[in-house]
Amino acid sequence: MFSYRHVFHAGNHADVLKHMILLECIELLQQKAGGLMFLDSHAGAGLYDLSTGYATVSDESVEGIFKLLKHEVSSLPPTIKNYLDRIHSWNNDPKQISVYPGSPSLLLESLRPQDKLRLFELHPTDFPILNDEIKSLNTTKLDIQVLMQDGFSGLKAFLPPPSRRGLILMDPSYEDKSDYFKVLTALEEGLKRFATGVYIIWYPCLSRNDALELPNKLIKLCSRSEKTPPLSWLRAELRVKDINDDSGLTASGMFIINPPWKLKEALNESLPLLSDILAQQGHGNHLLESSED
Ligand code: SAM
Repeated sequence: MFSYRHVFHAGNHADVLKHMILLECIELLQQKAGGLMFLDSHAGAGLYDLSTGYATVSDESVEGIFKLLKHEVSSLPPTIKNYLDRIHSWNNDPKQISVYPGSPSLLLESLRPQDKLRLFELHPTDFPILNDEIKSLNTTKLDIQVLMQDGFSGLKAFLPPPSRRGLILMDPSYEDKSDYFKVLTALEEGLKRFATGVYIIWYPCLSRNDALELPNKLIKLCSRSEKTPPLSWLRAELRVKDINDDSGLTASGMFIINPPWKLKEALNESLPLLSDILAQQGHGNHLLESSED
């Protein structure tokens, strides 16, 4: 069950897409002063050293964050530039990076005193790494809990947040194929309790049926029942390799329920360029669609 460790994939093209969109959502939501609850159902180890150890085994970051870093920063749209600035802020040398922050570190760094953070991680090796990391980073004693619990079933205990404002990141590895089903049931449960939350779901674009069907099932979930109004959604995908390339993940997507206002505008500006920059052998493209189309 625990064969997946995110350190082998840290900083790859899927992380670039995921973390860039996560940061944009946070920035847009924090334009209002009201406190936010951040929930990360599948947190990982928190912080990764890209220069040594497991991260160098397949060096996925070479075609991800490092490829993006080679691009001239002044010519980048704000969403990409902000993401790169945040990655740089974890590294001392402005010319190169070795530390890559995972979603828990990015969320923690974004916390204001009025916000809260709840992190779930089940891996017996990664949980203590994450827990120690968060303890050492949380120097100002912000409201953070790190839980060694199942994120799918654990989420509901925190919904709705007292402030009625929240962002939920659901980022399973899908190595366990039941994750496709669990994402849907956890969301259904979450939406019953907190229909106005911003839910962000990462998914791999694979040719197997359960992966192909997931985005449409998510769209269907947003139309809900006749008694409840439909929820707005946004789907963003980034392809960097030929669909028939079997050397690892070729594309991934982010599905956002109740996307913050102006998110689509920001991604419209950044995704085409991101797919151009990260394309391998000219196979870059992107998809951006929403309930408003
Ligand atoms: N969100 C992280 C990031 O962006 O930096 C990466 C997370 S990684 C894709 C998925 C993580 O979920 C792994 O560390 C895995 O151990 C953990 N995991 C797997 N099943 C879980 C579950 N049911 N509840 C909580 N964590 C789980």
